[in-house]
Amino acid sequence: MGRFSGKSVVITGGSSGIGLAAARRIVEEGGAVLITGSNAARLESAREQLPALHILVNDASKPEAAQALAEEAGRLFGTIDAVFLNAGVGAGAPLGHLTPDIYRQLMDINVGGPLFGTQALAPIVCDGGSILITASIAKDKGMQASALYSATKGAVRSLVRGFARELAPRRIRVNALSPGPIETDFFNRLGLPEEHASMVTQQIAAGNPLGRMGTAEEAAAVATFLLSDEASYVTGSDYYVDGGDAQL
Ligand code: NAD
Repeated sequence: MGRFSGKSVVITGGSSGIGLAAARRIVEEGGAVLITGSNAARLESAREQLPALHILVNDASKPEAAQALAEEAGRLFGTIDAVFLNAGVGAGAPLGHLTPDIYRQLMDINVGGPLFGTQALAPIVCDGGSILITASIAKDKGMQASALYSATKGAVRSLVRGFARELAPRRIRVNALSPGPIETDFFNRLGLPEEHASMVTQQIAAGNPLGRMGTAEEAAAVATFLLSDEASYVTGSDYYVDGGDAQL
């Protein structure tokens, strides 16, 4: 019997990286998991790796998609025990290259996703359930050429504080996960040229107190703790998984 035995969990951005590692761990611990992503091929590939997964193509940047996700989760599970709102994008755009389109894209996915996701899903989360939202250490420490990305994750931190209070009467816990440098596709999707991306990751690893980047599994270990009943007295919190006093 695992921590998620008999429980159902929704994970956005679950087809890769931290989200997929968390999905794997929850399935291994007895849970039923619905993952979402905007890319159908990546979702199918995740299900090939983990056939027990339920998958849904769902663009986290669209408020109406949050409602569709709640309907699908309700259809599959009735109520849900935990939600991991993890979909997010970064953008290595320095100030001079920021555009209104980049602004809207980052705000819609990184802030609108958790905001409308919580609004749509909270009504079907069981009393005593858990909601976890992925922020980033960038919100506190900044990240090279990514002021806007850092700001979206600062907004996530504030949403978590507010939602934790609003949902406390139903004993629903709401927390933030703040990864530091984790080896996932995240850096590949920053749009950096390949050689620059690998130089950036080498510099980050060298400057990290533990001397390396973290793995998706290490971030998922903390995420699943917060999603589980083991964290029953933890709400409104922000958990760092960053190898120490890290920089991105
Ligand atoms: P990742 O790129 O593997 O995961 C991001 C996931 O979000 C992907 O599965 C992607 O398909 C999904 N996604 C993106 N836009 C979406 C949309 N519009 N609709 C639905 N899904 C969408 O990288 P990751 O590192 O696992 O990132 C997970 C979270 O962790 C993100 O919120 C990211 O900002 C955050 N984070 C990552 C790091 C890191 O170093 N890897 C550090 C701090 C924070």
